[in-house]
Amino acid sequence: MSAIENILVVNSGSSSLKFTLYRIDGERRLANGLVERIGSASANMVYRRGDEPKSERPVSAPDHAAALRLVCEALTDGRTGVLKSLDEVDAIGHRVLHGADLFRDATLMTPENLERVKTLVPFGPLHMPPNIGGIEACQKIFPGIPNVAVFDTAFHQTMPDCAARYAIPDEFRAKYGIRKYGFHGTSHHFVTLAAAEFLGKKPEETNLVTCHLGNGSSLAAIKNGKVFDTTMGLTPLAGVVMGTRSGDLDPAVVLELVRKGMSADEIDNLLNKKSGLLGVGGIGSGDMRDIVNAAQDGNASAALALDMWAHRIVQYIGGYFTLVGGADAIVFTGGIGENSAAARAKVLSRLGCLGVDFDEEANATRRGPCYLSRPGSKVAAIIVPTDEELMIARETYQVVTK
Ligand code: ADP
Repeated sequence: MSAIENILVVNSGSSSLKFTLYRIDGERRLANGLVERIGSASANMVYRRGDEPKSERPVSAPDHAAALRLVCEALTDGRTGVLKSLDEVDAIGHRVLHGADLFRDATLMTPENLERVKTLVPFGPLHMPPNIGGIEACQKIFPGIPNVAVFDTAFHQTMPDCAARYAIPDEFRAKYGIRKYGFHGTSHHFVTLAAAEFLGKKPEETNLVTCHLGNGSSLAAIKNGKVFDTTMGLTPLAGVVMGTRSGDLDPAVVLELVRKGMSADEIDNLLNKKSGLLGVGGIGSGDMRDIVNAAQDGNASAALALDMWAHRIVQYIGGYFTLVGGADAIVFTGGIGENSAAARAKVLSRLGCLGVDFDEEANATRRGPCYLSRPGSKVAAIIVPTDEELMIARETYQVVTK
C-alpha cells in the first residue's frame, strides 16, 4: 500500500455530518466543518480551511450521501479546497457509538465487519443508523479506500466484570447484552494520553480520574492508563447530572412512572431530553453558561441544579480516586470542563481532602492544557482539552498501517 498521508474523519449523526481532514504527518488539520439539518429545507454547511475564518452557506442536503458529496466538493474546490482530487484521501475514520462486546478496538470495515456493526443497531437506534450510513456513503464515494470504525465504547472494554456487570442474573447479559459499556471512550482515551504526557509520566504508570463535562458528561477511573470504571452504562443516560439527562436514578423511579401510566418512549424522552440541568434549573435551558448566570442572579432552582451537578461529580471523583488506589491527577475536559471556571470551582473547592491544593486564581484565568492546582499539590488538578477527531485519525492510521 502507498504511504498514508491524508485521513478524513467523519462523524455522521442523526441530522448532521461533521468532518475533519488531517495530514497525519505532523497531525495538521487541513480542513474541517459540518453539514447540519440534513434532510430539512434549512440545511447549512460550515467549512474552514486550516486556521482561516470559517464560511457558512445554505445547501441542499436531502440525505447523508448528499452531505458527503458537498464535503468532497468543498475539499477539492479549486479556490477554497485543500486537495487536487479525492484520490488524495488515503483512509477514512468514522466515529461509531457502540461496539458492544463485538469490537474492543478500532476496526477496519470489511464487508463482514460492517455486517457485524449492523447487528448492534438496537444498542443505539438513534445513532447507529447514521453512523453506518456514513460508512456506506464513503464506501461508494471513495471506492477502495479503507474505512475504519472507532467506537465510543472501545476504550472502556478493559473494565473488570465487577465494574461492568449489573447486579442482576447473568442471563440478561448473555441474552440481551445488558451490562455497562461506557461512552466518550475516544475522549477519555485522548485525555489519558495527553494528561500522562503533560505530567511527564508513562500512560501505563498513570492513575487518573478523567472528567469529560459537556452537554453529555462522563467520568472515568483510569488505572495504569486503562479504564477501571466509568459513569455511563448500557446507554449514555447513566452517571452524573447532564445538560438534559438525569444521570443515575433509583431504577424503581422508572417502574413507578410505568405504573403511573407513562410509556417507555415517554420516560425515555423525560429522562434523556427534559431532565438534568434543564429539568431541575427550570430556566428553559440546560446550557451551563445560562445555569451559572441564573444562579449568580439568585435563581434558587438554577442554584440547586448547579449544586446537584457538582454533588454527583464530587461523589464520583472521591469514589474513583479510591477505586484506582489514589490518582496522580483529576483531569477536566469537554465544553464545561475546559471553559466554565465557575462550574469547575464548585467541584475543585471540595477536593482538598484528596490532596488537591486548588489554585483559584489559576482556575479563573488559565486555559488548558494547564494546572489548576498549586505546585507541590499532592494530587494535581489539570485541564486537558480533548480532541476526539484527532484521536480517531490516530487510531485510523494505526489500523491501516498495521
Ligand atoms: P457536547 O456534549 O454537546 O459535545 P460540549 O462539550 O460542547 O457538549 O459542552 C457544552 C457545554 O459547555 C454547555 O453547557 C456550555 O454552556 C458549556 N460551555 C461551552 N463554552 C463555554 C464557556 N466559554 N464558558 C462556560 N461554559 C461553556
